[in-house]
Amino acid sequence: MSIRPAPSERSLTEMSRDRLRETLAALGEPKYRADQVYKWIFARGVRDFDAMTDVPKALRQKLVEGGYTIGRVYVERVRESVDGTRKVQFRLSDGAAIESVLIPMPGGVFTQCVSSQVGCAMDCQFCYTGKLGLSRHLTAGEIVDQVVTARAAVPPEGRIDHVVYMGMGEPLHNFDAVAESIGSLCDKDGVALSHKRITVSTSGLVPQIDKLGQTAPVNLAISLNATTNEVRDRVMPVNKRWPIEALLESVRKYPLPPRRKLTFEYVLLGGVNDSDEDARRLLKLLRGMAARVNLIPWNPFSGPAYERPSDERVRAFQRILLNRGLTATVRVTKGLDIDAACGQLGERPAA
Ligand code: SF4
Repeated sequence: MSIRPAPSERSLTEMSRDRLRETLAALGEPKYRADQVYKWIFARGVRDFDAMTDVPKALRQKLVEGGYTIGRVYVERVRESVDGTRKVQFRLSDGAAIESVLIPMPGGVFTQCVSSQVGCAMDCQFCYTGKLGLSRHLTAGEIVDQVVTARAAVPPEGRIDHVVYMGMGEPLHNFDAVAESIGSLCDKDGVALSHKRITVSTSGLVPQIDKLGQTAPVNLAISLNATTNEVRDRVMPVNKRWPIEALLESVRKYPLPPRRKLTFEYVLLGGVNDSDEDARRLLKLLRGMAARVNLIPWNPFSGPAYERPSDERVRAFQRILLNRGLTATVRVTKGLDIDAACGQLGERPAA
């Protein structure tokens, strides 16, 4: 399969609502029939034409005989952490594996962290996925289907109410499919999320940040992780192309809807970027922005040796930001026991 696979022509899950209407029109069906089928697939999550009880049998038959299918990702395994986080491993039609994480939030809802690529090309040094390299981009259908399919892994009283593009891959490296998937996730007859419940996280692809701002009013998160170009060049090679100044200039222009803030993720690597001096530089860099900082003590994986900073160091770093009025939270590490924490996603080789 190529690095940018074409959507499957016969998979209804790969179709936008307009394309589904065209496909069914070619079979002699009116627009409202396509809308019924669309709702069954994306709002109700059915995978079997026979479950579409208000769709005439003759049409269901035509779809089966025409070789049409539903579903692009297949749940292979769900692991549940002691803290309620669930890691869902999906198998794709070409045999590749991706992961998605369901994070329990107050009120019985879940935030889903979706993947946008198989592996990642960005090579951030603190990230397990980065160590895998990029195998291929996901199609829009494969991204959306992670959300549709993961509902089965949520307890009956819960629901997925926020989607964050922070799983495997750099979403803005796969811009077109990600933009299309956002459009599908927000369709009111399908998954029906609002843009304000979607967050795209990037390592800092500047031209695509500008493009995203013109495309969809979603929340933006920047994976910053350093306060000098010298350190950021080392831990995030993307910085050599778009250094901190260029990144922040583009972020300052991002058309944030009123009352929303930009999120800056900052993985704290012991002895690398976690000093008081770093905290003070961070304050300076973000001065004047509607921003919040999410501090993430590094999650170990069997890769290069960084150190997780002590809890005291993390608190001291956070205090410096808070004392100057910057919203700064420490991400509670979830799913560590099932390798579902930030930077840990990716299929492990068999033992
Ligand atoms: S942190 Fe994100 S962008 Fe960086 S290597 Fe990992 S998945 Fe890719």
